[in-house]
Parts: sequence; C-alpha cells; structure tokens
Amino acid sequence: MTSLRALSKEKLTDLQSALWNEYRQEQAKGLHLNMSRGKPAPDQLDLSMDLLRLPDSCILEDGTDARNYGILQGIPECRKLFGNLLGIPADQIIMGGNASLNLMFDTMAFLFLFGTGGNRPWADYRTVGRTVRFLCPVPGYDRHFRICEKLGIEMIPVRLLEDGPDMNQVKELVKNDEQIKGIWCVPLHSNPQGVCYSDAVVEELASMETAADDFRIFWDNAYGIHHIYEEVPLKDILTACEKAGHPNRCYYFFSTSKITFPGAGVSLIAASPDNIKELLGHMSAQTISHDKLNQLRHVQFFGTPEKILIHMQKLADLLRPKFDIVLQKLEEGIGQDSSIASWSRPKGGYFISLNVSDGCAKRTVELAGQAGVTLTAAGASYPYGKDPDDSNIRIAPSYPSEEELAQAMDILILCIKIAYLEKLLG
Ligand code: PLP
Repeated sequence: MTSLRALSKEKLTDLQSALWNEYRQEQAKGLHLNMSRGKPAPDQLDLSMDLLRLPDSCILEDGTDARNYGILQGIPECRKLFGNLLGIPADQIIMGGNASLNLMFDTMAFLFLFGTGGNRPWADYRTVGRTVRFLCPVPGYDRHFRICEKLGIEMIPVRLLEDGPDMNQVKELVKNDEQIKGIWCVPLHSNPQGVCYSDAVVEELASMETAADDFRIFWDNAYGIHHIYEEVPLKDILTACEKAGHPNRCYYFFSTSKITFPGAGVSLIAASPDNIKELLGHMSAQTISHDKLNQLRHVQFFGTPEKILIHMQKLADLLRPKFDIVLQKLEEGIGQDSSIASWSRPKGGYFISLNVSDGCAKRTVELAGQAGVTLTAAGASYPYGKDPDDSNIRIAPSYPSEEELAQAMDILILCIKIAYLEKLLG
C-alpha cells in the first residue's frame, strides 16, 4: 500500500469517505466482538477438564490428609513439581491461592506494613510526607499499576526495549534515589509487547547498585512457559541475585491461570530462604493454609514438568492460528506504512501490542467500540492509564473464535485508518 502521507488532500478526502462507507456497513451488522482481556477461549479450558475429577486420593506422599488444615507453605509434591518446572528449589517456594496477583498485592502490602530485613515499613514514608516509588517498564500490565495506585506508590515509567527495561535509565534512577523501592518485571513474553529479557538485563537487575537497601524486583513470570512460535530461555534471577550479593532482592511469581483455569488454578511465590521465612511469618497470621486439594489436583493431573510442557504445546497450537490471523491482517491492511501503525511480533504470551500514529489510539478504540469491537481502553498499559503519546493499543487475540477475530481485525484496521486520516486532514 502506498504511504497515505504521499497522497494529495483530494485523494485523502475521497479515501476518507470510502472508508466511512465501509465503516457504516460494518456498524450495521450489529456485531459484538471482544478483544479486550487476555482470557483463554473455551477450547483451551476444555483441555483441563479432567482436573475436576481429581484428586482421586487425598493422602499425600508423607501420609498427611490433604483434606484438613495445615501445611501453610503448600504441599511438598506441588512445590517440587513447579520447582522442577521453573528450576527453583522446592523449599524456596510458597504455594499461594488461586491467583498470583493476590500474592503480589499481599507482598507489597507486607512491605508497607512491616518492611523487610529490618528496614522500616514503606508506609512510614507517608508519615514524613514522602512517597515510595516504583519503576514501571512501559507499556506494561495494568493490574501491576493498579496495585501501586491503590497503595499510593508513585510510578516512574521506564522504557521497555527489545531485550528488557532500558538498563541505563534504570541504573541511573535506582543509584540515586532511596525512595525507589522496586521494579515490576514480566521477563518472558511481556504483557503487552511480548518482550523477553536477555541474560545481560537479568544480570544487571541482579547486580546493579541501588540507593535503597530494601530495593525489590517483582518478577512476574506469568508467561514463563507460554511459548507460541519459539521457545525462549530465561536466566535464573534468584541465583543471579544471590551470586551478585543481593540474595533477598527478588520476589518471583508464577501461576497456572493461563495453563489450567484462570481464577481456579494455583499460584506461587519464590524467593531467598530469608524472604520465604519472613513471608511465612506474615502469612501465618493471614491463613492456616491455602487450598491443598487444588494443589494436589494439579499434581495428579500433570504428574511431571514434561507433561506440563506437553499441555502448553497443545495450548500453543490453539493460540497460534489466532496470532497468525492478527499478524496477517495487520500485514495485509497496513503493511510497511509505519506512520499509520506498527506492532509487536511476539514469540509467545497472550498479546500483540499495536502502536497507531501518535494521538490516534483513543479515537481508534472509540471508533472500534461504536462498530461493536471492544478493545482494552487506550492508555491502560501505562501508569495512571495515561499513554503520553496516545498511541498504544493492546490486542488480546485468545478469546474470540478465529472467524470473529478476523472480522474484528478488519474493523480495527478500518478504524486505525479513519483515525489516522482524521489526524492528517485536521
Ligand atoms: N501477570 C500478568 C503479567 C498478567 O498478564 C496476568 C493476567 O493477565 C496476571 C499476572 C494474572 O495472573 P493471576 O491470574 O495468577 O493473578
């Protein structure tokens, strides 16, 4: 397609009315298509239905009855299964409840209430009129930002490059500001761009000098085994932190939300032995134990890490054609004209990140909504919901059927062009 910027004003106006005609025809169909949240489709969920027939025995390897209270840290066989999957010692893992976001919020709340390693609680900063600050690679996961907002943490956006956060920017910030207490990281197939952290970035995060003794990395490996096109390795952050002399720097989160059932899977937090001890101390006042039957159900369903990876291949086989549709439609509809839009080509995960022309994201999402296609709100992937360029749109291809997705993409591409022409023509 010729660059639209090369066309005369007259030609652009003609094109604009043709696109509006097309748009009205789409609108008249009264469609209801949703590409807003990264939810697994029913056929993905169907792959885990046998979980619901389990556990068939409730007695653990050591003879404990899993139906009863106890084992706050989580049943050993479940910690072993996920420890072997992720390369983490089982005693450095606590199994949580049905969602890792819960563990992230609680960990942050513990830091606010109690501090860590003898440092003062982060909430104390408020009493002297100061704030805790967190680095937020952008675009990023809206619910991480929501946790910060809720706790009054000031969010500092940092650039997310192709191999992770811009470490020059990160190192400069953390070296000089004691109020910067941590960073959010989604190290594999990040939401929404699909960024995978390089070994060098992991090393630097683990070893960098920080003004705050209690600086913490929130390592949310939500898409750690969610490879679709290509398997990507990830350097072991917990070991890297330990080797760099900062053993307590990292909290590592993982869940089976997008492996088995979102909201009914199992989650975990992994960390150094000291951090685990501290966390268990706080948790022991919070609950007697998490849902051990669900932990056991997952152990009996999967059995081995290898079987989890086979299950992931089946999920990837269902997701890949949907990612193909989105990428193909963008290629055909927009092509190389990066002034209209550019997009990520992820190797896995759940999202495709689309950048439309600056100032056009909100309008594109609005137009799509009025034609029956619901997208994530423009700006949602930025702290405080504010994309300074009004350019980023997150596409979540997993939930709609392939047919619905193709229809939704045609409409989205139409809307991208209409919004861009409105900008060009003023
Ligand atoms: N972390 C990231 C980066 C996500 O994208 C999501 C869900 O979209 C979650 C965490 C939610 O995980 P959970 O269901 O375990 O809370």
